[in-house]
Amino acid sequence: MLTEVTLAICESIVTAAQMLSEQGLSPGTSGNVSSRYKNGMLITPSGVDYAALTPDTLVFVDQNGQYQHDALKPSSEWQFHLAIYQHRQDINAVVHTHSEAATALACTGRGIPAFHYMVAIGGGENIRCAPYATFGTETLAHKALEALEGRMACLLANHGVIACGENLRAAARLANEVEVLSAQYSRALGIGDVQILDTQEMQTVLAKFKGYGQTL
Ligand SMILES: [Zn+2]
Repeated sequence: MLTEVTLAICESIVTAAQMLSEQGLSPGTSGNVSSRYKNGMLITPSGVDYAALTPDTLVFVDQNGQYQHDALKPSSEWQFHLAIYQHRQDINAVVHTHSEAATALACTGRGIPAFHYMVAIGGGENIRCAPYATFGTETLAHKALEALEGRMACLLANHGVIACGENLRAAARLANEVEVLSAQYSRALGIGDVQILDTQEMQTVLAKFKGYGQTL
């Protein structure tokens, strides 16, 4: 039986997951969503279609990676979600997708440089791409954490995207933003001679975002 508070968090996770699905960011059953909870997290289950998600299908995983659910297992990609909560106190929600443009870009091993000032929305002057590691492994979690240093989003080579936030809404919106930026950058690469903004300009943009309190 879910308490009222737990139920509210679970409902937010379901809403965020279904929003990603409606936006076409999580093809098939790919992608997973989690929220920090107690000494661990609540995360979408493995093998359940987003359309069939309900609050009681979410799985609690504690700080040691132990989970308990009558019928369901957590997403097979729970490792990097938990690692992020353990190492980043500024993050309370994590969204992972295999969205089309960002994943295509990640399959070239490229991150997203400062080709557009909006790249700063990820928290820095670029959005890095973590080197490839097998899904669901501690190695991938480690590489993702490195790519996320000082950032709220990263790509995962030959895999997809991680977008984080101080809440689920922010994380889901950032996932969408990374997809848009990836599509734009890929298109610019196709034209050629992409101009990259320099560090000084990106620092100016980052300061402006901060000054305006721009959050996602
Ligand atoms: Zn994945």
